[in-house]
Amino acid sequence: MSAVQILSSSTSAVLQLPGGWFRNNAGWVSGRDGVLLVDTFATEERSRELLDAVAAVIPDGGSLRAVLTHAHGDHANGARQVAERGGEVLASPSAGAVVAAGPHLYPGVFECSTWGDVTPPESTTPVVEPLRLDLGGIEAHVLPVPGTAHTDGDLVVWVPDDGVLFTGDLLFDGVCPLAFSGSVTGWAAALDWLAGFGAATLVPGHGPVSAVEEGLIGRVQGYLRWLLEVADGPEELPELAALARDRHPGWLDPERHVVNLAVARAEVRGTPFDLVAAMGAALAEVGGPIRLDV
Ligand SMILES: [Zn+2]
Repeated sequence: MSAVQILSSSTSAVLQLPGGWFRNNAGWVSGRDGVLLVDTFATEERSRELLDAVAAVIPDGGSLRAVLTHAHGDHANGARQVAERGGEVLASPSAGAVVAAGPHLYPGVFECSTWGDVTPPESTTPVVEPLRLDLGGIEAHVLPVPGTAHTDGDLVVWVPDDGVLFTGDLLFDGVCPLAFSGSVTGWAAALDWLAGFGAATLVPGHGPVSAVEEGLIGRVQGYLRWLLEVADGPEELPELAALARDRHPGWLDPERHVVNLAVARAEVRGTPFDLVAAMGAALAEVGGPIRLDV
């Protein structure tokens, strides 16, 4: 179940706690002239509920736009429903291309009987530079993340009047980050950029909303830097993954550590990242495909 957390008179987060696999956060910014939705959900039904909640805050005659912070299916699978309700879907060019080639359901990795119809939208509007959207009395800024971070096409949404930053999957709280389609080095650097916003409130891609002084940016950055530090050592990756579990005992989905370590090792050694082998190691830890219906 998702829950709406009101952050201001115009900005709300929609949380799927505690936020593990395919349980991401979304949110919206609403003004007199329209609403900007930030991300959708993984399944048809959950996205429909989200869009019903959004419909209730769209002013009469107002516009609906949605921004996909990146192409991963948990955030993007409901995009077609935005278009079906007359809305425009914004995404980075690379995320738009990935979404268009989907849906990506990875049947050997995940078991899920509740996807429903998650056919991608016919088109997305590419965001190639910072975009200031005047929603009527409130602005939302859609900003490309520099370089490759969580993916090679991440966007964040900044609401300066409210001090709220929707970070997409640049931040995870209480859930192991996941770097398989990005760059550990680039992600760690992008978090310096993220810290520069001076946001008061952070809406991570997964996990609870947090005040900036709770230190979430530093915790995720510290983890990414640790990955890079240890990745070039002599230890086997499962051995390092066990160390990572000990360092972060409260994080959900710890099978991701071995994947992240494989990404980091490829980066520091300049070797190709083998996604199939890395996911195989993660699935070996959990004993088979990851069930999403539970
Ligand atoms: Zn993601």
